[in-house]
Amino acid sequence: MLLRLKRQIAPAELSAVEATARSLGYECEYLGQKQELVQLHRRTDAEGPERPEFAARFADLAGVDAILDRGAVHDLWSARDGGQPTVVEAAGARFGGGDISLVAGPCAVEDEARLLEVASAVAARGATLLRGGAYKPRSSPYSFQGLGRAGLEMLRSVREAVGIGVVTEVLDPRDVEAVAEVADVVQVGARSMASYALLKELGKIDKPVLLKRGFGATVSEFLGAAEYVLSGGNGRIVLCERGVRGFDSITRNLLDVGAIAHLKAATHLPVIADPSHAAGRSDLVRALGRAGLVAGADGLMVEVHPAPEEAHSDAQQAISLRAFEALAQDARAIADLDGRRIVNLSDPAPPEHTHELSPR
Ligand code: PEP
Ligand code: MN
Repeated sequence: MLLRLKRQIAPAELSAVEATARSLGYECEYLGQKQELVQLHRRTDAEGPERPEFAARFADLAGVDAILDRGAVHDLWSARDGGQPTVVEAAGARFGGGDISLVAGPCAVEDEARLLEVASAVAARGATLLRGGAYKPRSSPYSFQGLGRAGLEMLRSVREAVGIGVVTEVLDPRDVEAVAEVADVVQVGARSMASYALLKELGKIDKPVLLKRGFGATVSEFLGAAEYVLSGGNGRIVLCERGVRGFDSITRNLLDVGAIAHLKAATHLPVIADPSHAAGRSDLVRALGRAGLVAGADGLMVEVHPAPEEAHSDAQQAISLRAFEALAQDARAIADLDGRRIVNLSDPAPPEHTHELSPR
């Protein structure tokens, strides 16, 4: 690790750097004329490998201006040279490694008959997972909050009846167990991306997590959120770009396709795009969905409703079944062009993948 010290470092601050180095198993070598650069060498008798939290310990010291090179310390999300991409599998869907899955369904679970109708319709049109929130994060406490436990039960019975896995959001750490029991993939919404207590709970579960980027979060903050789940022991994360806040209200958010392309190179984790919350308008969902896939996304999550104008939440961005069918067709064409595959529910199950976290 290479540190740059503060220009006018106080003796006590310097001692704190040296003491921290010693306690973590490093020796200091001062470089540069003013000795403001410190190369940390791992002592041969030091116990255990270098860990991401070591860099964080130095970053927090008052005498340290910057960590210039983290050396062998890697975050768990980072792609390594020659490393394999992580393929996240859930109930017949696969994200990553050339496999693209489509997630479709209403914004919120509204009633069981409707959910059943939309689940079979999207499954027949190429979706491998059904989405639908039982717990809805709404900007106003007076708006429809979702059906809660009753919504989860509807997801459970529709999942059984149609044979399609479900993605549903958890808002509260106290609901993690109940949601994870029903969901094949547990969603963390944009508003909860920085709910670290929730992320820590999700690090302990044995279900994949679909982590949405906060609308005001940098890519680095987004990856920091993923690191919470990974460091808790859950290696199955699907990152979801859903648009960040822009200055123009022409669309609800700005789909950050640059971030999708960047993430595909920077991390081994699969990345999907949510064109619905980015566009905020049904007429642009197809174009943004296509853009997300072309940028490299390993899947799409789209809000689809059999009668969009009747949706209880996000009605203006819900697309019809017909429009979803057209987008699924586009997805197949883009996958063909890229030499990738769209995963179908009827595909035979692939050989078992392991989801061990790579060694630090
Ligand atoms: C949703 O998926 O319905 C949702 C609330 O999305 P986001 O968290 O991205 O706003
Ligand atoms: Mn929504």
